[in-house]
Amino acid sequence: MEFLLKKTIFEKVIVGVGRGLCSYSTSSSRVGLPVHGLNRTNNPEKQSSSTGGGGGGSGGRSSEKKCYDITIVGGGIVGTATALELSKKYPWLKLAVVEKEDALAKHQSGHNSGVVHCGIYYKPGSLKAQLCVQGLHLSYKYFEENQIPYKKVGKLIVAVSEDEIPRLKDLYERGLQNNVPNLKLVDAPQIKDYEPYCKGLMAVWSPETGIVDWGRVTQSYGDNFEKAGGRIFLNFAVKKLSHGTNPDYPVVVINEEGKSLESKYVLTCGGLQSDRLAEMSGGSPDPRIIPFRGEYLLLNPDKCHLIRGNIYPVPDPRFPFLGVHFTPRMDGSVWLGPNAILALKREGYSWKDFSMKDFTDSIRYKGFQKLAVKYAVFGTSEMIRSAFINLQLKELCKYIPNIGPTDITRGPAGVRAQAMDQDGNLVEDFIFDSGSGPLASRVLHCRNAPSPGATSSLAIAHMIVDKMQKQFSL
Ligand SMILES: Cc1cc2nc3c(=O)[nH]c(=O)nc-3n(C[C@H](O)[C@H](O)[C@H](O)COP(=O)(O)OP(=O)(O)OC[C@H]3O[C@@H](n4cnc5c(N)ncnc54)[C@H](O)[C@@H]3O)c2cc1C
Repeated sequence: MEFLLKKTIFEKVIVGVGRGLCSYSTSSSRVGLPVHGLNRTNNPEKQSSSTGGGGGGSGGRSSEKKCYDITIVGGGIVGTATALELSKKYPWLKLAVVEKEDALAKHQSGHNSGVVHCGIYYKPGSLKAQLCVQGLHLSYKYFEENQIPYKKVGKLIVAVSEDEIPRLKDLYERGLQNNVPNLKLVDAPQIKDYEPYCKGLMAVWSPETGIVDWGRVTQSYGDNFEKAGGRIFLNFAVKKLSHGTNPDYPVVVINEEGKSLESKYVLTCGGLQSDRLAEMSGGSPDPRIIPFRGEYLLLNPDKCHLIRGNIYPVPDPRFPFLGVHFTPRMDGSVWLGPNAILALKREGYSWKDFSMKDFTDSIRYKGFQKLAVKYAVFGTSEMIRSAFINLQLKELCKYIPNIGPTDITRGPAGVRAQAMDQDGNLVEDFIFDSGSGPLASRVLHCRNAPSPGATSSLAIAHMIVDKMQKQFSL
């Protein structure tokens, strides 16, 4: 199995290299097309059948380069969903995705709770609320059409103390305003109808909330993108974006090994590295990405029957994250978490992972220093709870009292790309940037695709493609 995976990855790189050639003589300006905007006739692959190894910067024939109409940097769920949407809307364009890892979804998109969110929490009318509800419907439709296993296990947001009840009712109202389907407010005895082992005073029940493996969904977007003619280059870590000499494909995307692709336009969806990618085309250093690790505990298999669906606390408005929750997984296991602690490395999944650059970038950032002061108590208690998991158990037992210290073990972790401004505010909006200088009219950076980015991915993709259409006159 492992061999087969490696073989597929290897073939993807080779196929990508082989088919990514185009000849300058077929390029658009030679047939009188404008510098900006793309035309049905200018797909170099459809005009010429160039094959062979090598390519720009990698030793190919000197007259030929790897040229793409649009290159998407980042093989997470946002990058692949957008690539797929572009391939559907503009089937005549030559498109490439470049990803620095040896597979898609190696970071946030493959390390998350696996929940299909229904959009209760977000401010009514906000883009986040709209994209989440749209994304929920688009996701279920996509799962059905592509035979992706999922389960609509539902979700209970449970108030366990009197002071949480007004906030729970506010959430319910929000959910209604956001058009979350089939929401219900339920009292204490009714909680047992949905979650027989759960304790609480009142709850919001969302039957449309589901679970899925978002890593698998990302892979499926990538597969469908390739079926539509797109190319995926793995192990391609972008180091630099520069302005090249080819007037038709002026953006040169250069990787750490010095290999390059030439492109008319570039979109970056870099998750935990999105600020650094934006800086490559002269973008502002702000907002900065501060990585927050979310660690999960695992419920022992003999206790998994205690949990049917997702069980969430009422979020505490004093703190920036949703709070630890109970999440059943597609494989039948149950994850408890995640917490939120500063990661010592952007893509670091345990306390042992440390990067001096990433760590100093975080702690020297003024915004982080302000946030650390503001949330000193929360941050310290999260770290203590991370070290002593029995303290987390105390929180969890408020909802499911039948869990004891021997029923939990340490589990996996994910790292959130938390965009933060200079004042220490967590940025909850989508942030796009094109940078400055000669590349600004050719490059679009998606610097922040806030959670629930996986659920909203297809709706985000529609939004990004509309934006690209306007900005690049596609
Ligand atoms: C702990 C946790 C739990 C979550 N739970 C949920 C949930 O239950 N439901 C939900 O809807 N959302 C959830 N989310 C949010 C969701 O996972 C993210 O919003 C989403 O995955 C973001 O996708 P992305 O493509 O922007 O980022 P990523 O998945 O991080 O992808 C970015 C990609 O860019 C690549 N890249 C970066 N730099 C370069 C470079 N220089 N060159 C080439 N490639 C590069 C990276 O390797 C990476 O593959 C959760 C997130 C976390 C962290």
